[in-house]
Amino acid sequence: MTIEQQKVVTIHYKVTDVASNEVIDSSEGGQPMTYLHGAQNIIPGLEAALEGKQVGDELDVTIAPEDAYGEYSDERIQKVPHEAFQGVESVEPGMAFTAQTEHGPINLIVTEVDETEVTVDANHPLAGKSLAFSVKVESIREASEEELQHGHVHGEGGVEH
Ligand code: ZN
Repeated sequence: MTIEQQKVVTIHYKVTDVASNEVIDSSEGGQPMTYLHGAQNIIPGLEAALEGKQVGDELDVTIAPEDAYGEYSDERIQKVPHEAFQGVESVEPGMAFTAQTEHGPINLIVTEVDETEVTVDANHPLAGKSLAFSVKVESIREASEEELQHGHVHGEGGVEH
């Protein structure tokens, strides 16, 4: 069986920030990751690299920001009034919030706080980074009808609901 649309794929992986050579995340010694191929469960560059691979295949791939978490954009940095944080006792740099927008929820990190305004950054923490993935394909199976309808994996390594 090869990796293609509508397959449920389990991989072990390690991801490194190319610029700093820092390991960002790794499944080594832990649970592998399971995802539904072709459903945008994982970043586009990694999904493309895995297409056509088989169980036991190992690959090393470097993925540019545009095929990973996007370019870093100054437009995603905004200054908002303190009133936007009602109910929060003390807003500090480094705090993470989820904001509801007309395009759905987005994650924000507070980067600066002054007397009048709070600066928030809506860029993904890995935006603008080239990422090096080391991946080993552990298993491949057919997706169930329900998984295809939901666009994600159920059961082991997937969504429980
Ligand atoms: Zn579901």
